[in-house]
This record gives sequence, structure tokens and C-alpha cells, in this order.
Amino acid sequence: MEFYSFEHGRWRGSVEWDHSMHFIPRQPCSKHGPRSGGRAGHLRIILPSARVADFVWTWYSECLLAARAVRVLQHERLKGFRLRTVAVTQLKNGRYGPAPELEELVVTGWAGQSPGASGITLEEYCRECGYTHYSAPTHPEHLIEESQWDGSDFFIVWPMPGHIFVTERVLQVATANNLKGAAFVPVSEMRHLADGFTPGSLEHYFSPQVVRRRKADVDYLKWEH
Ligand SMILES: [Zn+2]
Repeated sequence: MEFYSFEHGRWRGSVEWDHSMHFIPRQPCSKHGPRSGGRAGHLRIILPSARVADFVWTWYSECLLAARAVRVLQHERLKGFRLRTVAVTQLKNGRYGPAPELEELVVTGWAGQSPGASGITLEEYCRECGYTHYSAPTHPEHLIEESQWDGSDFFIVWPMPGHIFVTERVLQVATANNLKGAAFVPVSEMRHLADGFTPGSLEHYFSPQVVRRRKADVDYLKWEH
């Protein structure tokens, strides 16, 4: 099975978060200082122009879908995502009409933790605040272990919760429907991973029910003992 990293196309970073975004407050850590919690509520964004591609990416790499992309993904019954409303609070250039409706692609698919063969190892875990740091993969071709993959077309792998992975079917659907604004990079060819990952803990990304299901799949909790 071939998997792809689903990434921004050429137009990354033109969409900013609005200043009125809410974050979950967290206690500062005695070792790591003030730590920001996850996002609370819907995305609120500043859009440069009403002319957008089918896939739109924020500066922080959230993937937004324009109406046609939503229709295609739903019609093709691709699995492993849900949609969350996005509020466009400001349209910088109104020349091309009103702000388009956008939905955030929230990935629900899961492929557990990247196996040891990828070269990713846990280097630090803080019991107090949940800070985690993992080394960079030395063998990206082993990032995903198929036996841990839940079969979703869109999925994530720990410790890269902000990164979207997709199946070949997503690439086929996007190509057949000429959906623009995303790049599909074969997992074995992924670059720019040299700094490793600092994802924090599962609680920063998932609801309590999902965290309970996924806890057994990740290794940092074993450091508790
Ligand atoms: Zn800490």
C-alpha cells in the first residue's frame, strides 16, 4: 500500500489566524514555563482574497476545503475526516467577491505510532506538562506501519499529529476531479523532518474518548512508571 504526505501546494501561508482565536488555558510548567493549550472552538481566519484553490492551507498547516472539494470528498465517500466550520472574519481584498465558504478538514483516521524502524525515538517527556520531544526519522519509508492503520483515507501517525497522511485513493480522486491546492508526496520522499517533533500529549489534540482509545498506541506514557 502506498501512502502519501498531504501537503500545501505553492500557496501555503497566505491564510492567517484571526486574533480572536481561543485557546485552552494551561498551567505553566516549572521546567518548560508557560505552555499554550490546543485550539478551542472553530478556526477564525483572515483571508487574503476570495479567489481560493480547492484546498487552502493556513500558516499553521491546517487544511481548509472550498465547496467543490467538500462535494467531491463526500461524493467519493473518502473516509477518515469530518468537517468543521471556518469563520472568515476579514477578507483583505474584496475585488473578487464575498468570502467563500470554507470548512476545516479535521482528520479522524489513525495509524498509531510510527514504528522504531522509522528511526523516531522519544527523547524527552515531562510528567508535569506533557511536553514530549521525538527525534527525526532516519527512514521515512517506515513512518507508517500498515498493521496499525485503521483503513482511513485520511489519517495521522504519532508523533506527527499536525501532519496529514492519505491513501493513493485520495490522490486518484483529487487528480480525476482536478482539485487544486495540495501536493501529494510519497512518504519515502518526505523531507524537512530534521528537527524532530514536539507534539505534546494526546490530550492537546483529541477528545477524552479518543485519547482513551489511542493511549495504548503511544509510548510516552510508559515513561510515567
Ligand atoms: Zn514541562
